[in-house]
Amino acid sequence: MKIYIDGSYYSEQDAKVSVFDHGLLYGDGIFEGIRIYHGRVFKLKEHIDRLFASAKAILLNMPMTHAELMKATVDTCRENGLKDGYIRLLVTRGVGNLGLNPNKCKKASVIIIADKIQLYPKEYYDNGLQIVTVPTTRNLHSALNPAIKSLNYLNNILAKIEANNAGCEEAIMLNSEGYVAECTGDNVFILKNGEMFTPPLSAGALYGITRNTVIDLARAAGIKASEPNLTRYDLFNADECFLTGTGAEIVPVVKIDGRVIGDGKPGKITRMLEEAYHSLTKVSGEPIYQ
Ligand code: PMP
Repeated sequence: MKIYIDGSYYSEQDAKVSVFDHGLLYGDGIFEGIRIYHGRVFKLKEHIDRLFASAKAILLNMPMTHAELMKATVDTCRENGLKDGYIRLLVTRGVGNLGLNPNKCKKASVIIIADKIQLYPKEYYDNGLQIVTVPTTRNLHSALNPAIKSLNYLNNILAKIEANNAGCEEAIMLNSEGYVAECTGDNVFILKNGEMFTPPLSAGALYGITRNTVIDLARAAGIKASEPNLTRYDLFNADECFLTGTGAEIVPVVKIDGRVIGDGKPGKITRMLEEAYHSLTKVSGEPIYQ
C-alpha cells in the first residue's frame, strides 16, 4: 500500500509522522472517511466541503486547495489500484512543540490512506443490529461541536467501549439534555407512521453525508423527512430504525435497550432506502478514477 503524506507516497512501513505533530499530541486535526465504488470516489466534493468546514471551525490553515485535495484523493486511489474501498483523509495541525499552542505549528500535514474496507458482517444487514444507549453523553456543541469531524474521537470511543461492554456493536449517544444525538460512528433514523425522523445537528449529530443522501432519497420517494429532537421513548416506539454512515451505508436496527423495534425485523422502508442507496453506489461500465 502507498500512503500519501504531503505530496509524496510512502510504503506502509515508511509512512510516519513526527511525535511532535499536534494531531498525535492533542488530537488537533480533522478527518474524513470516504468510499470508493468501482473507481469512483463517492460524494468526494461533499467530503472535501465538510473537511474545509471542520478546518474553518478549528482555525486550521489548509495547506492545499479544494481542487488539489480532490485530485490527491483520487490519485492516491489510482496509485494503489484501489477500485472499491475506504479512504481515510486526515489533516493534522502539523509539527509544533510540546505546548498546545497551534501557532507554533508551521504547516498542517495532509495524509491519505486508501485501503480495503472492513465491512460489517452480512448478518447485521440480514437480521438487524441490537444496540443500547450508553452513559457517556455526546460532547456539548458549546464545548466541542460534534459537527467538527476532529481527530479527537475520545467521546465516541468511550461510548463504543460502553456498547462493547454491553455486548453491542454500536451505541446510541444522548446529549446532556437527554435527547438522542447519534451513534459513535453513524447517524440514527427512525420511521413512524410512514414519516422519517433524524436528530438535528443542534442535538449533537454529525452533518453526515450518508444522512443527507438518505434524506434526499426518502423525499424523492415521497416520504416526509424532518429533524426534530428525539427521545429514547421515540426510538423505542418507532416502526423502524436504521443507522447511516459512509462505511456502514444503511444498517437496520431491531432492538434498542432490550425493546423490540417494530416487528423485530428490518423494516420495509429501511429496505427500500437500502436498495435506493445501492443503486447510487453501483456504477456500471469500466472503472475510471474520478
Ligand atoms: N457520526 C459520526 C460521529 C461519525 O464518525 C460518522 C462517520 N464519519 C457519521 C456520523 C456518519 O457520517 P457519514 O455519513 O458522513 O460517514
